[in-house]
Amino acid sequence: MPYYRDEAVVLRTQKLGEADRIITLLTRSHGRVRAVAKGVRRTSSRFGARLEPFSHVDLQFAEARSLDVITQVETLQPFAARMGADYVAYTAGTVMLETAERLVVEDHEPALQQYLLLVGALRAICDTGRPPAQVLDAFLLRSLAVNGYAPSFDVCARCGAPGPHVAFNPSAGGMLCADCRVPGSARPAAETVSVLGALLSGDWDVVLATDERHLREASTLVAAYLAWHLERGLKSLSHVQR
Ligand SMILES: [Zn+2]
Repeated sequence: MPYYRDEAVVLRTQKLGEADRIITLLTRSHGRVRAVAKGVRRTSSRFGARLEPFSHVDLQFAEARSLDVITQVETLQPFAARMGADYVAYTAGTVMLETAERLVVEDHEPALQQYLLLVGALRAICDTGRPPAQVLDAFLLRSLAVNGYAPSFDVCARCGAPGPHVAFNPSAGGMLCADCRVPGSARPAAETVSVLGALLSGDWDVVLATDERHLREASTLVAAYLAWHLERGLKSLSHVQR
């Protein structure tokens, strides 16, 4: 039976039969992988606890006809325990896992940038103590960008006219100039538009200096942008405290 190794973040687990689980993973080299972990629901299981959502692990898989089988697991970073200890971090992180699973549409298609964004965001919450809501917003904007839906917060998303502009429309791809503006566009505060750009580019000095009101408005616009591009809203997003 052929084996392969990879690093991964656990996105989701589902029960299978009496004692097994199906583990959905975002791997570094093999994209999204669904694999079986045998016997992990028995209390004697050696690696059940290492395969919880958020776990960053190194794995060995055995290829099988349908779902591959996980044969070894080593913990790389214990994100699961740390995310589970903080409700705000946990709810923000849950949206990240669900978004990553939704944006990577094909199993076994490499999605390295999406993988690196996810590991980076979990590390930012667990190790740097950055506010989970803003780490989530930065993750969502960058995830959309690496999947071909980069929003524009400076130049007009339609005609490229230099900004700053005042109208935001998710369906148009971001900010719109006075000529391109469409009915129903939002009119966010200038500070909100500038923090959206900072979240996308990773300028944390600007993010951390922005007041709560504008951060909240930015989160609302990120959620609208994400919902538009995923066609239907993510169910976990409604639990995030904004
Ligand atoms: Zn325009």
